[in-house]
Amino acid sequence: MIRIFIDYLLPIFYFKCMTKNREKLLMILNANKVPMNASLIYEDTKDSFDLATIYRGLNYLETNNYVSSFVFDCKESGVQRYFTIKEESHKHYMHCEKCHTFTAIPLCPLKNALSDIEEEYGFIVDEHYLTLRGICRHCAETTL
Ligand SMILES: [Zn+2]
Ligand SMILES: [Zn+2]
Ligand SMILES: [Zn+2]
Repeated sequence: MIRIFIDYLLPIFYFKCMTKNREKLLMILNANKVPMNASLIYEDTKDSFDLATIYRGLNYLETNNYVSSFVFDCKESGVQRYFTIKEESHKHYMHCEKCHTFTAIPLCPLKNALSDIEEEYGFIVDEHYLTLRGICRHCAETTL
């Protein structure tokens, strides 16, 4: 019985058990509500994590479907991978190139266009990415 526990059940138990680090990463992403890259998370947590731990943790969370990510080229911070908590309905974002913040677009503006494409080309779409780049309302008003 003990052998079975060690050989079989213990690995399963460990696999299911979320480490403190991963839990904390999820909490940060959840609290911020906007896509975050590893360096933003690093700034948010100073002292408690090093960058390598953050990369490893994010990688684990994405492989296990807790978070999703996309690559975005911000004029200020360059090409980075951004992570968000995985939700039932996916979101797209608008990125302001003045204040470099992301704002969520809760409804998918491509929904109808994608089913048209599927119908026309017989191509089954698994995934799609769309991030709008521009100037947010706040920045547009303050530059006037
Ligand atoms: Zn802005
Ligand atoms: Zn930017
Ligand atoms: Zn979409």
